[in-house]
Amino acid sequence: MAGIAHRLTDVKAKIAAAARDAERDPAAVTLVAVSKTFEAEDILPAIEAGQRVFGENRVQEAKGKWPALKERFPDIELHLIGPLQTNKVKEAVALFDVIESVDRPKLASALAAEMARTGRRLPCFVQVNTGAEPQKAGVAPADTAAFVEQCRADGLDVVGLMCIPPADDEAALHFALLAKLARACGVAKLSMGMSGDYPTAILLGATHVRVGSAIFGVRG
Ligand SMILES: *Cc1c(COP(=O)(O)O)cnc(C)c1O
Repeated sequence: MAGIAHRLTDVKAKIAAAARDAERDPAAVTLVAVSKTFEAEDILPAIEAGQRVFGENRVQEAKGKWPALKERFPDIELHLIGPLQTNKVKEAVALFDVIESVDRPKLASALAAEMARTGRRLPCFVQVNTGAEPQKAGVAPADTAAFVEQCRADGLDVVGLMCIPPADDEAALHFALLAKLARACGVAKLSMGMSGDYPTAILLGATHVRVGSAIFGVRG
């Protein structure tokens, strides 16, 4: 599919333009290409076009396609961006390279224990429920600093914060809140912005944007 490589180029150009508008170095923004629901045959054109950082939201689905791709392309960096059950921690630590969705104490302890056991100490992001939505994962903004401290005490390498703003809200407000919380917690990285709003997220300091449909097309 030539369309995927073409759209990838377009997204990368928009990332660079947004970074320049914000007087930031475009290289300081990492594109996480979200390949959930797409098969290896759709992902390959993106890899062949040079993309190396990918995001998946389900451990089971990722296990079906990524081990073979990672064997062929060992420099791929795979991010888990969706909810993680503690009974999948072992598989997640084995397969993923970054965990973006640490959202509760029990998960943090289970991840820390598995990383200590295997020696795979993966960078982690704490997911913040900036919109305080009952159905959405993430710690409450007011609890974020204490939770980051607790994760670190457990031994997790917390490098940043991640959020998914409410669909019907002004995303910029949530991005600004996440940036403020990250400063307060002393973490440098911000995973925020999706296909509909990544340029705004970059203006507000995103170091990682998670872009799916703008690259791979509408999910079936
Ligand atoms: C699916 C997903 C994305 C990508 O969404 P698009 O709108 O397709 O870019 C980003 N982040 C998370 C957590 C997701 O689940």
